[in-house]
Amino acid sequence: MELYNSLIGETKALYEKLPQVSWDYNARDAWTSNESSELVLQKDAAYELGASGKGSANFVLFTSDPALVAKDQTILCGKDLREIKGDCDFARIVLLRIGVLDDDDEAVYRTLRDIEFSKYHVYPKGYMVRISPESYREQVRVSRDAVRRGISFKALGASYIAEYKKNPNVLNATVVFLTDPAADYAALKALAKKSADVTGTLTHIFEGLPTDCSVCALKDICDEVEGMKELHFGVGAGGSVHKS
Ligand code: SF4
Repeated sequence: MELYNSLIGETKALYEKLPQVSWDYNARDAWTSNESSELVLQKDAAYELGASGKGSANFVLFTSDPALVAKDQTILCGKDLREIKGDCDFARIVLLRIGVLDDDDEAVYRTLRDIEFSKYHVYPKGYMVRISPESYREQVRVSRDAVRRGISFKALGASYIAEYKKNPNVLNATVVFLTDPAADYAALKALAKKSADVTGTLTHIFEGLPTDCSVCALKDICDEVEGMKELHFGVGAGGSVHKS
């Protein structure tokens, strides 16, 4: 699964130049979890991450290359939750190394969708997440009580990694949180859109889109993403192929 590799490179170029701290994953660090999503009322909130008017981005990228995602860890660029005093910019990026079969593309695609939905199954106490897939944003309301109890990105990262690793195809997970105002949130959001475009193109391919690039509306993304055309022509074997 190398379709997202160039996006991983572009993403790393955006956050690796920022000051950061990191923690290796330990399941015991995970933050207290609720059974389902919790409503944090505005009157109980300490602040919002990625609130309206602030930078915000959220996306997941996949690879099978151990050089790109080498271990389970959480990275933070910017202030931690106990240091934040008001609404601020926020991005959460997840890089996953997967070990699914490369010779069965449709199974790979289904696995990616299953793994992506893991983010909807993390319910940290005092941490209300609103994901907006259409705008690639993630907004979080953090309760004053959770801040008082010591909620941290180290603990949240462990919660997310634990959920991703429930899927046996996830070999390593890196969760990157950004709150640094110096981060380029517009560029991160553009990468979130590209990631969604790659996944959306895979959907169309596996729904039986004809293999004729000359009239295909997805040509821009396939021209940019290495391996996409090869994947489609492999899937469409037997039909007429018009590369252009
Ligand atoms: S490979 Fe060609 S036909 Fe297939 S989705 Fe990409 S542009 Fe369209």
